[in-house]
Amino acid sequence: MAEELLVTAGAGQTRQVVVGSFARFGTATPVVIAGPCSVESDRQIHQAAEGVAAAGGHMLRGGAFKPRTSPYAFQGLGAEGLRHLRAAGAAVGLPVVTEVLDAQDVGLVAEHADMLQIGARSMQNFGLLRAAGRSGRPILLKRAAGATVDEWLHAAEYILAEGNDQVVLCERGIRSFEPHTRATLDLAGAVAARQRTSLPVIADPSHATGRRELVVPMACAAVASGLDGIIVEVHPDPDRSVSDAAQTISIEAFAALMRRLHLPARTSDLAGLRDAVDDLDEEILRLLAQRMALSAHIGDAKRSCGLPVFQPGRERAILERLADRGQGHLRPAAVTAIWTAILSESRARQGHAPAQETR
Ligand code: PEP
Ligand code: MN
Repeated sequence: MAEELLVTAGAGQTRQVVVGSFARFGTATPVVIAGPCSVESDRQIHQAAEGVAAAGGHMLRGGAFKPRTSPYAFQGLGAEGLRHLRAAGAAVGLPVVTEVLDAQDVGLVAEHADMLQIGARSMQNFGLLRAAGRSGRPILLKRAAGATVDEWLHAAEYILAEGNDQVVLCERGIRSFEPHTRATLDLAGAVAARQRTSLPVIADPSHATGRRELVVPMACAAVASGLDGIIVEVHPDPDRSVSDAAQTISIEAFAALMRRLHLPARTSDLAGLRDAVDDLDEEILRLLAQRMALSAHIGDAKRSCGLPVFQPGRERAILERLADRGQGHLRPAAVTAIWTAILSESRARQGHAPAQETR
């Protein structure tokens, strides 16, 4: 891209996108959006909302205006669906996202939804992009199945050019030669997009795979690749979903996915929060053990080139690099204290006697 674009300004940094009072894209914690493909009834979306909230999801999804391949397929409940979605989100305290298909509906959808979704089929509907840009709502912009990363970023530019910088990009699979999956999840393209913009990027393993047995592994892969979140289709009775049943997972499967992702639980219940902290402690311990095993190898490498174990300059550089990276949750002095202890154990692993230390 030769032109000066808003979408590539600040590439490498992260612009946070805040939805409602609760969901924040672009932090250390990936945002999980879940819910049915379509809002089918008040009862169905309330059940889904309860399941998503209880499992620790951060946002509720549900289509009211559905972009269907056939004009004779279910087109969504429209305004009634928006009302059910908003009520269900409010009942469990989750912000909601839903697709807007037509520029003339932007006002109506913005009244009911905390975030507007521009679907893959609308990615280059420039009038819709501009109208969404002026809506005052954050936008979830899906990548079209046939769009390059540059075309996707240029589509985001239409929204940013209207003065709305609250845009999240969503990779949802591109069309390839492979018929086994509905589309091909282009995780590398999503990460490449993430590196070219400061906008958060999430992945949609449901539409990308079209197969429920692939949704959980691809959701984990998206989170492992450092993306800013996922959007997953979840239904209280997946086989009866009126749209996209084959790729829709159950509430139980979603809860298992959330446990596997080890994200901080979205619950005010003390036992749930403690479980989440216990899980994180296990993970921290596992990572520390891994770090110490690596340290032992570093000790061998130092010895084989005749270097002393204690390298004060290297330790200072590590402490300086990390001190102010606590993301607002850790004071620099706390980061320094924690890493001083880690480095001391690491030296011990390398056979260094503490008495030799001088700074
Ligand atoms: C959806 O998320 O409901 C949807 C239709 O997705 P996409 O635009 O990615 O096909
Ligand atoms: Mn769908």
